[in-house]
Amino acid sequence: MAAKTKIRVVAALGGNAILQLGQKGTYEEQLANIKKTAEHLANMIMSRKYQVIITHGNGPQVGAILLQNDAGQAAFNVPAMPMDVCGAESQGLIGYMIQQSLREIFVEGGRPEIPVATVVTQVIVDKNDSAFKNPTKPVGPFYTEEVAKKLAKEKGWTVISDAGRGWRRVVPSPDPKDIAEKEAIKAMIDAHVVPIVSGGGGIPVVEENGKLRGVEAVIDKDLAGERVAEAIDADVLLILTDVNGAAINYKKPDEKWLRKITVAEAKKYLQEGQFAKGSMGPKVLAAIRFIEWGGKRAIITSLDKAYDAIRGKTGTEIVKE
Ligand code: ADP
Ligand code: MG
Repeated sequence: MAAKTKIRVVAALGGNAILQLGQKGTYEEQLANIKKTAEHLANMIMSRKYQVIITHGNGPQVGAILLQNDAGQAAFNVPAMPMDVCGAESQGLIGYMIQQSLREIFVEGGRPEIPVATVVTQVIVDKNDSAFKNPTKPVGPFYTEEVAKKLAKEKGWTVISDAGRGWRRVVPSPDPKDIAEKEAIKAMIDAHVVPIVSGGGGIPVVEENGKLRGVEAVIDKDLAGERVAEAIDADVLLILTDVNGAAINYKKPDEKWLRKITVAEAKKYLQEGQFAKGSMGPKVLAAIRFIEWGGKRAIITSLDKAYDAIRGKTGTEIVKE
């Protein structure tokens, strides 16, 4: 890659950047949310100081695509697409909205020349990852027990009863190892493109004789974002969510929000179970991995505080020592 002239930041957007709790998920709602999100990122992108690489979640969007696939197959006999294909679709859907929103701000801000592009990103996982023997991540719609068990038989799915809300399919959540498109992403960064990559944790693929095959799984988007950060030699991993950082004793009377913690402290808290699995846990783990790999800064904060947090004013930062 060309020599760095700016601080390179991987910004990982949480679900709230695209859809708010209680919304239906219409296109208009999602676009309005993404426009706000883009405003929070724009200061950083338009500054001469930072180069931003965007990644994002896709839970509600891929859930809707899976449901549309089910319905289309049942009603019109349109063949349902496998999960990895649905993941690719969701990257296009969300990437398109981010591209449009950023462009709008750049044009209004007199910087229409800043290019933005989405990369359909495959993330390589280990075929022998133990997660494949123990699917844990619920995906897609809720079913009655009867329908769920029928689908499990027909399609070889694993289904579970989800907290009294009905039955759901669960898929493996393997650990991301590498980013298949990393050379393309690096070339984009060298060309000063703002790349949108690894949406929804990337499309999970396994390597077979050097070729890539999509698998039915979901990779955590923060852990995948950390691999992106390694691959492109980022300086900062900025994890943007709906809370202002990580807390210990979260939601308990002695709750304490953390401002600066060392990798050793973060590991200890993680082991104690202070950070919930599947939400704050992988964010802290991603931050730990990034700093241990050699990254300069790993910050967890809320989306609207992104620019303040990167200037050290708020959020939780995980530091080496
Ligand atoms: P995202 O879509 O941004 O990945 P998640 O829901 O996965 O969001 O993770 C953020 C959530 O993590 C917060 O809304 C909060 O409820 C939850 N959380 C769990 N444990 C903690 C903790 N120890 N400190 C702060 N937030 C926590
Ligand atoms: Mg999450």
